[in-house]
Amino acid sequence: MTDLEALAELIFPDITDTIDDLEKRYPKRQLNNGAIVARFAPSPTGFLHTGSLFATLIAWRFPAQTSGVFFTRLEDTDTKREIEGSGEELLKQLEAFGIVPNEGYMGDYEKGNYGPYKQSNRANIYKTVIKDFIKKGLAYPCFCSSEEVNELRKYQEAHKLNPGYYGQYAKCSTLDPKVAMQRIKNHEPYVIRFRSQGNYQNKIKITDLIRGNLELAQNDQHIVILKSDGLPTYHFAHLVDDHFMRTTHVTRGEEWLPSLPIHYELFEAAGWEKPNYAHLPVIMKLDNGSRRKLSKRKDPEASVSYFLENGYPVEGVLEYLVTIANSNFEEWRLQNMNANIFDFKLSFDKMTLDGALFDLAKVKNICKERLARLNKDEFTKKAYEFAKKYDNNLKELIERDENFFKEIINIEREKDNPRKDYETFKDIYPIINFFYSDLYEKLLENELPFNYERFTNQTIIKVLEAFKNDMGLEYDEENWFNNLKKVTEQCGFCSNVKEYKKNKDLYPGHVGDISEIIRIAISTRKNTPNLYYVLKILGKEEVTKRINKIIERLS
Ligand code: GLU
Repeated sequence: MTDLEALAELIFPDITDTIDDLEKRYPKRQLNNGAIVARFAPSPTGFLHTGSLFATLIAWRFPAQTSGVFFTRLEDTDTKREIEGSGEELLKQLEAFGIVPNEGYMGDYEKGNYGPYKQSNRANIYKTVIKDFIKKGLAYPCFCSSEEVNELRKYQEAHKLNPGYYGQYAKCSTLDPKVAMQRIKNHEPYVIRFRSQGNYQNKIKITDLIRGNLELAQNDQHIVILKSDGLPTYHFAHLVDDHFMRTTHVTRGEEWLPSLPIHYELFEAAGWEKPNYAHLPVIMKLDNGSRRKLSKRKDPEASVSYFLENGYPVEGVLEYLVTIANSNFEEWRLQNMNANIFDFKLSFDKMTLDGALFDLAKVKNICKERLARLNKDEFTKKAYEFAKKYDNNLKELIERDENFFKEIINIEREKDNPRKDYETFKDIYPIINFFYSDLYEKLLENELPFNYERFTNQTIIKVLEAFKNDMGLEYDEENWFNNLKKVTEQCGFCSNVKEYKKNKDLYPGHVGDISEIIRIAISTRKNTPNLYYVLKILGKEEVTKRINKIIERLS
């Protein structure tokens, strides 16, 4: 046995697997040519960030487009930052967006043959690889305390040297294995470091699927790969997991780009084929004219739960994320207004390079458009899902009479250019509550927004009386409106708005004022969905009742 082998045995006496065993246990996946295997690898450190939803979207769609595999892995090696239960919560939130992994960590269970998918359960796999690295001299135990490492950094800063544990400063890299073994036997604490062969002065060529060919300085840092708690660092876990889980494409935030030389060197040391890399743009926010990262402290929209709780349709939010992912999406959408968003093929080369700007107003616009394009059954189903969790008032209305609800929300829906009344499911209740008699009664407790300066109560009453006697609800929309013009003239108002504008002194108002008066009377609001359909749904009897009430109130 060589000294290095003895050292490896001393450190990992219980590890009997070899790399070959792992290669056999996790064989190459049998997939079609071009099939992409990608993963979402969250750390359970809190809620799902909107940037992570964006990363997940990418890791999910590329496999879906290529009959590949999308899997989830829980990166829980930073036990200090872990928040209990947040891994499960992340998976639930993804599911709310319709994102379900083919394989991997699923919250309370795991699925697939490449697990465990929770890093804290993979310690023996990492140790197997590290044991092999130690035997080959690619890794070594380091006994430097954190105080020593800090001192080193201070020294390097004072002397304007590159900081870190490398080259001549990597003190423990030259320890004789026999000495190292003695120190371990003496119970001195240690970590395991990677022995870098790189030189910072050299450049390496790197290809990123989004950023193209890049030149970065070679890694020379002897990074820690196994911490004193027996868990690996991110870099090493990335090497081992993405190799043995047979990831073909690592799609991750661009904050990992500077670490790429480390990952290249680790893959080369292990003698494994590197995955493809795509470093995704960070989502930014415009704040007083300057860009900054979307921040979980400052921006409620940085947290995915914000969209769920506020009733944003998930397809609208996903669609927005696709618009920031691929610059050619919006043009495609204009030509395919009703198509399923995932008929669009995402590509890496159309990906935005610089931090993508998050624009909440645009999210809302997209949501409005998407909500308008759901048919009444889909709309009702989704609204009810939302209401059950977050909006009791709305839930109660849907449960009262689903068909009545559908009739209301179907006003000017299901046509080429549908009406856009709702941005979110949360908007529904305050827009439609007046349809329900008991809620209308409640709304009457507030002041009505009649334009009392232009019209006396007498005038309003006259208009309401005239309309009550001749509602024209038996007609289609166009003829109803012609009828309304007739009523307008009977009241001495002008039935033509242009005409009115030329001769304002001749009339108290125009046909638009007449509809406004009617609208306010039957809904208590200045804005409602299309008045004709509102009247039709309420029906003559209910409209008459409401008008009588208002007349009584104004008399
Ligand atoms: N756990 C890492 C993170 O949350 C994952 C990065 C990666 O996808 O490799 O940033």
